[in-house]
Amino acid sequence: MNFNMSLPGLEAFRIKKTVENGGVFQLHVELDVKPHRCPVCNVLTKKVHDYRTQKIQHSKLFVRETLIFYRKRRYKCEQPNCEKRFYENNSLVERYQRQSKELKQAIALELIHGKNFKSVASRFNISSTTVMRRFDEVGSSFLKETEELPSVIAIDEYKGDSDGEKYQTIIADPVDRKPLEILPDRKKETVETYLKEHGQRVEMVVMDMSPSFKAAVDQALGRPIVVADRFHFCRHIYWALERVRRKE
Ligand SMILES: [Zn+2]
Repeated sequence: MNFNMSLPGLEAFRIKKTVENGGVFQLHVELDVKPHRCPVCNVLTKKVHDYRTQKIQHSKLFVRETLIFYRKRRYKCEQPNCEKRFYENNSLVERYQRQSKELKQAIALELIHGKNFKSVASRFNISSTTVMRRFDEVGSSFLKETEELPSVIAIDEYKGDSDGEKYQTIIADPVDRKPLEILPDRKKETVETYLKEHGQRVEMVVMDMSPSFKAAVDQALGRPIVVADRFHFCRHIYWALERVRRKE
């Protein structure tokens, strides 16, 4: 089947087959053969050893649940005294994961940025980024003045202006899933100043930012804090929600 459309998260992949099964969209994909460096001896190889098909949960495509069947290739080092076997590099999924990076990202965004942005976005058929930009333009008047931040906060950056070049920082409550504050840039000093004023109760920060940024947060709060990356935090929340659901 010819499938020339580039799908999010699958740009590099060749889509071999698409099947719709019980409302679930199934995509069979693989990458082209290309020289890979042996992780042991660093020699380039194109020698294919074998394939294994990995089933991956992906973000919805065409409003359908999507499963990817990734025919993952293993190469074999061409160096006779090495012959190391190793998987090809891919941008779709991390090792030992069953969800694609794209899906993980989508879940994280929904959790961090709160549901309202998303529902507004789908209602108006525009991107969430656009919604957030509008939200920001109206001004922080919608955001209740946060005197004191909760014990768990999320710090995230996003492209705020219309050219998509200027970054802003969003401080959110990842438990109640609502934004608390939007800071005008992503400078460490800006975040530091804000946290010094409002962050005395903060114990945990969820963020995917650089180590130097963590240092800035520590310094602002005058003590070391726990930093979780979004994916682990989302899993934690997901489990908590599952427990509640089962009880009911
Ligand atoms: Zn080798």
